[in-house]
Amino acid sequence: MGQMFQRVKGFQDILGDDCLYWQYAEDTIKAIFKQYSISEVRLPVLERTEVFNRGIGGTTDIVEKEMFTMDDSSGGGTLSLRPEATAGIVRAYIENGLYNPPILHRFYCIGPMFRKENPQKGRFRQFVQGDVEFLGSSSPLTDADIIGMLMSYFDKLGLGKFVKLELNSVGCPKCRPSYQKKLIDYFNGHAGEMCEDCNRRLERNPLRVLDCKQQKCREFIKNAPIMLDELCDECKEHFDNVQYYLGLLNVPFVINPLMVRGLDYYVRTAFEVVTDKLGAASAVGGGGRYDGLVETLGGPSTPGIGFAIGMDRVVALLKEVSTVEKLQPLVYVVTFGDKSLEEGLKVLTRLRSLGIVAEIDYAQKGLKNQMKKADRSGAKYAIIMGEDELARGVVSVRTMANSSQEEMSLENFYKLIKE
Ligand SMILES: [Zn+2]
Ligand SMILES: [Zn+2]
Repeated sequence: MGQMFQRVKGFQDILGDDCLYWQYAEDTIKAIFKQYSISEVRLPVLERTEVFNRGIGGTTDIVEKEMFTMDDSSGGGTLSLRPEATAGIVRAYIENGLYNPPILHRFYCIGPMFRKENPQKGRFRQFVQGDVEFLGSSSPLTDADIIGMLMSYFDKLGLGKFVKLELNSVGCPKCRPSYQKKLIDYFNGHAGEMCEDCNRRLERNPLRVLDCKQQKCREFIKNAPIMLDELCDECKEHFDNVQYYLGLLNVPFVINPLMVRGLDYYVRTAFEVVTDKLGAASAVGGGGRYDGLVETLGGPSTPGIGFAIGMDRVVALLKEVSTVEKLQPLVYVVTFGDKSLEEGLKVLTRLRSLGIVAEIDYAQKGLKNQMKKADRSGAKYAIIMGEDELARGVVSVRTMANSSQEEMSLENFYKLIKE
């Protein structure tokens, strides 16, 4: 045998029953997107690094240390695998002139993202996000509706009681600078007792200090000044209205004044769906408003809001708390010899045309062997097409669970199956 290879660390092979959870998670979200008449976009996983630098922010962890970046041999500069979807969607929105006419546009995209994080439980270097962006509305009702859609996804999956919606406002370019100053003043008083990362963030991106998970930093973070106390009138009104509309839509939430999200482009509404079922990887989805992003990436001033669902974590949560139906045939067709096979294939075709999952043994080796395979397939029934039975116009139908066997006409067999 030749040399064997292993997959790259932090990347996964998703196989077998795991894929059933993935299909369930993806089919369900796509059905919801359809219900909200959101158009799909399929975009490259590779963009000019500059799209992310400018879009996500040069001082975020993602851009500073988590992107897979390579030289662009043809055009100069560098290219990066997308670490998130929003910047690329906004790039495509601008490049394809979709802002014309300037109506509300709604897009979704489901696909792999790449971040050079330390691989650990629940964190992969290639992971899948279900991503939604609404571009062209600054109304707080948009915020409430998109958040309501996100929460309806978890309800539909039966995960509603395992997740919690956290809401915050991160202010706007008008009210945030004075808050940032307050934050810097406050943390500067404790800088010596806080971690290295926090000290670095304090200089470059003070809001991110609130994200620190280290216990010694949390001590100071919990008493830090909060953005909600510093919102300008417009931001305050927007935030009040988002809460009012969420109430009308029956979407429960809790306010978390320390939640800031890891991306620079958010203004006003920020939200996260968290669970305590997955250990440290607590966020299963989140997003926010990014009214300045289209302009930052070279387009006309366009308000926007979006969210991303961590599909890997949704699947992990599903596996934790539920089971999905296994992929198995209802009927296993057992045949012996030419005549039997001929009739067996007719039955197989008929069953499939009725939408019934049915299998046949390709090797056609003896009854015992085929029954073993029927058992292994998980089929509920085996239909045995013995030649002498066929001559009498009947087939034998075995109920696999209790090995009871009964002769019946094909007609009665189809009746049984339809039930
Ligand atoms: Zn403001
Ligand atoms: Zn820290």
